[in-house]
Amino acid sequence: MEKEILIFGHKNPDTDSICSSLVKERLSKKLKMENVRAVRLGKINKETKYVLDYLKLQEPELVEKLEDGQQVIMVDHNEFNQSVEKIEKAKILEVVDHHRIANFETLEPLSYTARPYGCTSTILLEEYKIKNVEISKEEAILMASSIMSDTLLLKSPTTTEHDKKALEELEKIIGIDIKEYGLEMLKAGTDLNDFTAKELISLDAKSLDKNGTKFIIAQVNTVNIPDVLKRQEELENAIKEEIESKGLELFVLAITDILNSNSEIIALGNKVDAVEKGFDKKLENNRVFLEGVVSRKKQLLPNIDKNI
Ligand code: MG
Ligand code: MG
Ligand code: MG
Repeated sequence: MEKEILIFGHKNPDTDSICSSLVKERLSKKLKMENVRAVRLGKINKETKYVLDYLKLQEPELVEKLEDGQQVIMVDHNEFNQSVEKIEKAKILEVVDHHRIANFETLEPLSYTARPYGCTSTILLEEYKIKNVEISKEEAILMASSIMSDTLLLKSPTTTEHDKKALEELEKIIGIDIKEYGLEMLKAGTDLNDFTAKELISLDAKSLDKNGTKFIIAQVNTVNIPDVLKRQEELENAIKEEIESKGLELFVLAITDILNSNSEIIALGNKVDAVEKGFDKKLENNRVFLEGVVSRKKQLLPNIDKNI
């Protein structure tokens, strides 16, 4: 048998990472690349579980470490510190991603599709069209879920015209008003009650590295910021532990109100001034409210990163 190719998104997988892996697997098989398998690098979150339950799909298998020389396709990420253990020893055949390119290098040539779109699935939809492959209803729902998740129902500043058009096209294939489903999907992801503080701060956390300065920007979605802030002390203790154990200079937790498109930030570490300078605001009680800020990629990361 031909050697297997694993397809996966980033650690602390979000809906785009899981759904785009599943879509890429289906698309590859339709293109006669049979030896592909979508896997995941972490626990499925509640938002993604909503999608998988809706489609009656199994969770992809968890992979924690690669064998040397394992063939892989990376979706929805490229930075090695957001990927699986031993990624640097893998044979990366392809990347499909919509993030900045950093902390990434390969030994051999590869296919690399990078588009500055709001979602990996928007890029995958283009691939279906370029290769003239038919899209099933299930594939359309997976891609629509990714797009609505990453763009917060097309309201995030990361949303591009490509994402809007893609969602419109997918809606035609699906045949129902998908926005209602989308809101329920997003709301499913805001049920944070049964998570410990440690779990909460790592649900959607991205590890970043600027010339050896390590920091994390984590995000949780909610429909009620004060509700999450009731746990501030507990969250701060968990954050302090992370800073200690991972040698971080900064930990930023964005608590994002998905209905009103704002975020409350909790920031701790030696470099909290990177947050203050980035948004020209002072932290009070380790917190700052950022009106209109919902995107890590377009708003939080660039403003903080340049002041690290
Ligand atoms: Mg993602
Ligand atoms: Mg994404
Ligand atoms: Mg995200």
